[in-house]
Amino acid sequence: MPEETIFSKIIRKEIPADIVYQDDLVTAFRDINPLTPTHILIIPNKIIPTAADVNEEDEAALGRMFTVARKIAEQEGLDKGYRLLVNCKEHGRQEVYHLHMHLFGGKQLGNMLPK
Ligand code: 5GP
Repeated sequence: MPEETIFSKIIRKEIPADIVYQDDLVTAFRDINPLTPTHILIIPNKIIPTAADVNEEDEAALGRMFTVARKIAEQEGLDKGYRLLVNCKEHGRQEVYHLHMHLFGGKQLGNMLPK
């Protein structure tokens, strides 16, 4: 079994978080340290540590993450666009080892990486 992180406690509502969406497969909540006016994390309820650990059996949850991202973006009024980002392991600067998709929006974003 992969190790739990703080995100498992958020899913189970054992610690406070601003949850904006939850269903049987995924949970979405506002990042505690927002980098943009809208900064939401969308995560599978199942512990998948990193993008390097996804399997075919996870495809329903992974697909749901994208449809939930689209719905949240509509709710947040991000009609001019937004960025979806997944950091993976050390070189990707992943901090929490429970797979999560960042949804950034609400302002003009810069280049994805410094040139
Ligand atoms: P990573 O660098 O792993 O892609 O991003 C982890 C994100 O989780 C960071 O943006 C960080 O602010 C956020 N985060 C870490 N701990 C908590 C927490 O306890 N609650 C919430 N809402 N966000 C958290």
